[in-house]
Amino acid sequence: MNLVIIGTIGLDDIKTPFGEVESALGGSGVYASCAASFFSPSGLISVMGNDIPEEYLKLLNKRKVSLEGVSKLGKTFRWSGFYEFDMNEAKTLKTELNSLAGFKPDVPTDYKKAKFIFLANIDPDLQLEVLSQMEEKPFVVLDTKNYWITSKKDSLLKVIGKTDLFILNEGEARQLFETPNLIKAGKIALKLGPKYAIIKKGEHGALLFSDGKYFSAPGYPLEEVKDPTGAGDSFAGGLIGYLASKQVSNKLVSGKRVSFEELRRAVVYGSTIASFCAEDFSLNYLKNINSKKIEERYNIFQKIREF
Ligand code: AMP
Repeated sequence: MNLVIIGTIGLDDIKTPFGEVESALGGSGVYASCAASFFSPSGLISVMGNDIPEEYLKLLNKRKVSLEGVSKLGKTFRWSGFYEFDMNEAKTLKTELNSLAGFKPDVPTDYKKAKFIFLANIDPDLQLEVLSQMEEKPFVVLDTKNYWITSKKDSLLKVIGKTDLFILNEGEARQLFETPNLIKAGKIALKLGPKYAIIKKGEHGALLFSDGKYFSAPGYPLEEVKDPTGAGDSFAGGLIGYLASKQVSNKLVSGKRVSFEELRRAVVYGSTIASFCAEDFSLNYLKNINSKKIEERYNIFQKIREF
């Protein structure tokens, strides 16, 4: 297994100005592993309850997400939230940790030498635990959410120190680094240890930082945004899935040698996948895309940037 992802499997209740869903398939691990699957298979490490509908598991199987590292315990993690006309900001109504609270991750043996790991949005103590079980230091990508910045900042700072690429959105960056300026926030992120940092700006794209280097990717000009839930996880999943794909990782001597240039392309692939995610609720749109659609949108991104 070349790519391991730890994140949540969730049941989401979501309301946007364009509709609402109840107990829809969600969770950072689900979005990220499905997004990655368009480039690379992955092994998901997570927990779910006995209340998870069989059709949701079938979808993950169909997308070649390995569930060997997924435990079953009690009730599934639940999140409910809503969006107003500013679809860049999710307002959380309720987070119910349920089975996540008692989850003790156990990394399957054949995941332990993976070259890439995505620590998707989940309790930072679980992220640290999974990292400690890896046998060879992989290229580590980290994401988080305001919930963990507020409740577990010390553990989060520890994980950031072990990370190669830290991804967060602009609201989280301002909250964590206590500055309104995103360029400053990017620089502070790099000082904490990561070689690379990405600050996502919702529909307006993403900023990639490295020592002395900077890249700004545009957002895809999407007219139909029904539900942006999971777009951030899909961005990161698409990005790391692309890096872990045979086509790219064969060129990398080891997971650690991810170049800035390769990462720029990965940011655009991540943005491409995220834009598909936002077109419908849950994974309804994402599950039906294919490489032809991905390449078409990637090429549009390239054209938008030319001047
Ligand atoms: P995003 O829109 O990219 O922030 O991701 C939203 C997804 O993350 C939803 O499907 C939720 O189930 C899941 N989620 C929400 N809050 C949390 C949390 N505190 N920790 C982990 N996953 C979460």
